[in-house]
Amino acid sequence: MPSCQECNSPIPVEEEMPEIGEIIVCPTCGAEHEVISSEPLVLELIEEEK
Ligand SMILES: [Zn+2]
Repeated sequence: MPSCQECNSPIPVEEEMPEIGEIIVCPTCGAEHEVISSEPLVLELIEEEK
């Protein structure tokens, strides 16, 4: 299971094979991650500019 790069919580991914470019939101802190690889699953934190 991938973990959040913001808060280190595990991120449950419902789909077994998420598509590259898909956005997965951390349920703990709400940080958005983009799927950059599906095999193996790699998530990249999307940093928001505020
Ligand atoms: Zn998080």
